[in-house]
Amino acid sequence: MQAERRRAEKRAHRRRLFAYFAAVFIFFMLIAAVLVAGVVNNQRTHKMYLLESKANDIQDKLDMLIARVHVMAFMLMADDGEPESFDELAPLVLEGWDADSKDMVRNVALAPEGVVQYVYPLEGNEPLLGYSLWEAAAPDPETVEALRKGYVNITPPIDLVQGGRGMNISLPVTMPGEENSWGIVAIVVDTEKLIGAFSLRDFVTHQVEYSLDYEDMDGTYTTLVSSGPVEHPVSWDFQTENIRWRLSISGTLDAASTFSIVLLLLGILVLSLLLASNFANRKQRKQMGEMFRELANTDSVTGCNTRHFVYEKLVDKESGKWRIGGLNYSLAILDVDKFKDVNDTYGHEVGDQLLQQIAAILMRSLAKNKGDCAIRFGGDEFVLLFGDRSEDQLRDILQHVLQRVREIRLDSMPDIRVAVSIGGVHPSQMGDQEANYKNMLRVADDRLYQAKEAGRNRCVVQ
Ligand code: GH3
Ligand code: MG
Repeated sequence: MQAERRRAEKRAHRRRLFAYFAAVFIFFMLIAAVLVAGVVNNQRTHKMYLLESKANDIQDKLDMLIARVHVMAFMLMADDGEPESFDELAPLVLEGWDADSKDMVRNVALAPEGVVQYVYPLEGNEPLLGYSLWEAAAPDPETVEALRKGYVNITPPIDLVQGGRGMNISLPVTMPGEENSWGIVAIVVDTEKLIGAFSLRDFVTHQVEYSLDYEDMDGTYTTLVSSGPVEHPVSWDFQTENIRWRLSISGTLDAASTFSIVLLLLGILVLSLLLASNFANRKQRKQMGEMFRELANTDSVTGCNTRHFVYEKLVDKESGKWRIGGLNYSLAILDVDKFKDVNDTYGHEVGDQLLQQIAAILMRSLAKNKGDCAIRFGGDEFVLLFGDRSEDQLRDILQHVLQRVREIRLDSMPDIRVAVSIGGVHPSQMGDQEANYKNMLRVADDRLYQAKEAGRNRCVVQ
């Protein structure tokens, strides 16, 4: 039975633990969701800001690079298609005029009818001479058409003759008043340097992947530079002349934020477990507290209430006044006659059995609804409290108890006889004295003494 009960309690405890855990966990998860949403939003705002500032930076640099191609085109037009100023201008175009984009341009080339004839610097770029830019830069008809219209053209990343990777920014030139294109002016830009100049590497410190793409004539995007696959991208579009660009960075959380979120979730898990077990144990502690209180209030041998119970529930210990007003208590003290002899003759165990039988008789004489109470006062002494009884009723009850005790027979020792002496007092008998617990106890004790003196096995109620 007990094992069964313990198992049931364990199951209930586990259920409570789980319920508390679920409640606390959900509560904290809701708070976490708000926090995480804040972090994500914050990251996104930060990234968008970063993205916009980098895109502006790139747009500036690309404008400057494209401007260099235009300068070459103007030079050609000024020279009437005979590149007389090429040797003077090419070094300037190569060097550039803003400090940031220095060293980015690998070479400057002129390609009448699309075939390279002039390259600066020539050294290292000799293989380019005679190279058809029509084929290299604009293999598809749409791009050829765009070049005819005079649009700036960007090639996808190419392997440079001097090694490394680069892109070609080219512009078709048509002399004023002429119908056919003169050819192409082009600059080759080192993509590695370009990345450095655009500070795209800054993204690495923010732990984001990046990709710079440009839109082809057919509307698809070609990647010019990228650090790797960009997941959940956030993008910023901008335009240089006729070319649309798109800078994208990964929109996923950076490692530091992900780590903080994982830590937060772990913290919530641990905190929820701790709080849940604390809540569940609190209930268990409360139950244990109740159990201890019950133990302290109940005598283990007889099942009667203890003195502790009287002072905790019924009587103020200091003044001896009743805590519960309006019940008009009668009080009786009952002491087993010659109990020491019983113990000495038959042993304590038999004595205990008799005490239990007496206690059972006392408890049967109580009316719970009137606030009656049987207290084991100590040793073989009991105190009885009866609420709202007349003097006659009190007398009858005590006489009845006296009689029933005389009738006690133990199965194991049917010859043993036991009797009690009782001193009782009704509140109406208290005269000038206040009918409080302390005073009534004293009067009843005197009467018990009288009963003992008068030969025991009797009841004195006045
Ligand atoms: P009297 O008629 O004068 O009361 O004589 P008595 O022998 O009963 O004397 P008293 O009331 O002073 O003795 C109480 C005895 O009760 C002493 C002790 O051996 C016994 N006693 C006290 N508590 C217990 C108990 O829990 N179990 C048993 N078996 N005996 C107890
Ligand atoms: Mg006694």
